[in-house]
Amino acid sequence: MGYYDKQEIQILRRKTGPPEFEPVCWRGSMTCIFCHIIARQLPTEIIYENADLVVFKDINPQAPVHLLIVPKKHIESINALDEKTAGIFSKMVLAAKAMAERHGVQSGYRLMINNGREAGQVVYHLHMHFLGGWGKRPVKG
Ligand code: AMP
Ligand code: ZN
Repeated sequence: MGYYDKQEIQILRRKTGPPEFEPVCWRGSMTCIFCHIIARQLPTEIIYENADLVVFKDINPQAPVHLLIVPKKHIESINALDEKTAGIFSKMVLAAKAMAERHGVQSGYRLMINNGREAGQVVYHLHMHFLGGWGKRPVKG
C-alpha cells in the first residue's frame, strides 16, 4: 500500500479522468500515493496547505478527528531526515497545533509517526498522524 504500479495508475487515470493524470515521483515502476495527493492528482480534499506541507483526513480514521500532516517534499521516513531536511518536523508540529485549534480539540490530541515496516508504516512518504476529538464523541445511554 502507498505505492502504485503502472497498471493501478491506468485504473486511477480512468477513475479520476481529466485533468490529465500524470504520475509524479516515479521510483522504478512504482509511484507514491501522497505525492499524487499533493499534486492534486487524486480526489482527496486537502483541508490545510502552506508552502511546506499539506493536511488531509485519513481515509481510515482511527479517532473522531484523524488527520495526516504531510510534507510536500518526498521524504520516505524519519530515517531519511538529515540536518538540512529535519526542520520540516517543527513545521509539522506547528501545523498540528493549528489543526487542534481549528478543530477545537486543544484539550487532547496525539501525534504519531510510524517509522519503518515493523512500526506499521505503510506509506513511505513521511507523515504525522493527528488523532483527537474523543471529547466530541456523542455520549451513549
Ligand atoms: P502509516 O501506517 O503511518 O504509513 O499510515 C498511512 C495512513 O495513510 C493510513 O492510516 C491510511 O489509512 C492512510 N491513507 C492511505 N491512503 C490514503 C488516501 N488516499 N487518503 C487518505 N489517507 C490515506
Ligand atoms: Zn511521496
